[in-house]
Amino acid sequence: MRKHIVAGNWKMHKNNQETTALIEEILAKKGNNSTEIIIAPTFVNLLTAVEETKGNGITVAAQNMHQAEGGAFTGEISADMLTSIGVKTVILGHSERRAYFHETDALLANKVDTALKHNMRVIFCFGEELKDRQKENHFNIVEYQLRDALFHLEKSDWSNIILAYEPVWAIGTGETASPAQAQEMHKFIRTLIDKVYGHEVADNVSILYGGSVKPDNAKEIFSNPDVDGGLIGGAALKADDFLAIVNAF
Ligand code: PGA
Repeated sequence: MRKHIVAGNWKMHKNNQETTALIEEILAKKGNNSTEIIIAPTFVNLLTAVEETKGNGITVAAQNMHQAEGGAFTGEISADMLTSIGVKTVILGHSERRAYFHETDALLANKVDTALKHNMRVIFCFGEELKDRQKENHFNIVEYQLRDALFHLEKSDWSNIILAYEPVWAIGTGETASPAQAQEMHKFIRTLIDKVYGHEVADNVSILYGGSVKPDNAKEIFSNPDVDGGLIGGAALKADDFLAIVNAF
């Protein structure tokens, strides 16, 4: 059966010392929970995070990655560089990458392929903007995003895909999709995957919800049958808040 996962996207927060301190606090306070815990610090702190978490049941993920194997791409990071330090999970398609760095689903399809070629797991983010929801176009937008970035994959690739539905209007805004809105969209996504790839893939893929998940709303959001966890931004920066969300399952 599919996994419960709570992933913390640290974005451009926490320097090296702060990264160590937050990881140490998380390790000291985390109990034994079967939910997988993922943390995604910024690139320069990934090696520190890998070393700090070794053998402690926390997965370290990158927040982004370049699609090329290597070459003259100043400032970029490759899949091989990540895996060479023990990072085997990558977040791709976050709405901030789409909005500020012009990442399209066509580009993301290439990034996903590169990650899978390197045996990495992908946390693929997608979700509609407020204007799409106001026009009641949110199901179409989500369907196109998944089709354009992921539906070229083989059935077997899906064991390395984690989906993260993040309505853009709920990210960092304090607005959350209601539990009913989250369940409605997650069910739509699972039904779509079922149509394209069949029951096994649909039943096994973890679909995370992201967008202003906090300790006080996590339980209600996670109680939905098609919500398998969360991608957490702001609330992942404090150990107590993050662990309260982890323990909301
Ligand atoms: P938020 O961010 O929890 O601060 O809304 C979520 C995300 O960007 O993944």
